Amino acid sequence: MAFTRALINIDYTNDFVASDGALTCGEPGQAIEARIAALTDEFIRNGDEVIFAIDIHRENDPYHPETTLFPPHNIEGTTGRRLYGKLEEIYQAHRTLANVRWMDKTRYSAFAGTDLDLRLRERGISELHLVGVCTDICVLHTAVDAYNKGYKIIIHEDAVASFDEAGHQWALRHFKGSIGAEVVRG
Ligand code: ZN
Repeated sequence: MAFTRALINIDYTNDFVASDGALTCGEPGQAIEARIAALTDEFIRNGDEVIFAIDIHRENDPYHPETTLFPPHNIEGTTGRRLYGKLEEIYQAHRTLANVRWMDKTRYSAFAGTDLDLRLRERGISELHLVGVCTDICVLHTAVDAYNKGYKIIIHEDAVASFDEAGHQWALRHFKGSIGAEVVRG
């Protein structure tokens, strides 16, 4: 049986979501916990490809552009880089399945410097469902790259969040109006 859709789970880690996270979205991020967990569970059980595209950094990396933009976050090997709440439980319970994959990324877009595009194309996947944080940074950059590469894009409005409400709303309009994404809620 062939599956043609994938869930790209972006940066839903303690550093980006927990109240004491290093670069947290805070309450808006925590408010999507149940929905992002339910969607992830649904895709995994359906046999669809589920990719955890997770930011990785080394502390004080002098070459990384984010070093001067943000405080240290998602440092390799720290609890801050583990998934937040229910999503961590779901990942740990299913991580050994063939359709579940953890993928380190070093830039906002899940496509930048990774083998994501190859992985999706060799499986015949043409439809990408995006969830996670932040709507207007990593989700946005991933969606723009997906658009340029010709993927069908579905954004789950109730499973993306940002620390910046205006940025969140702008990005949702951009997804619909400029890159032809479907913006849906459960
Ligand atoms: Zn980062």
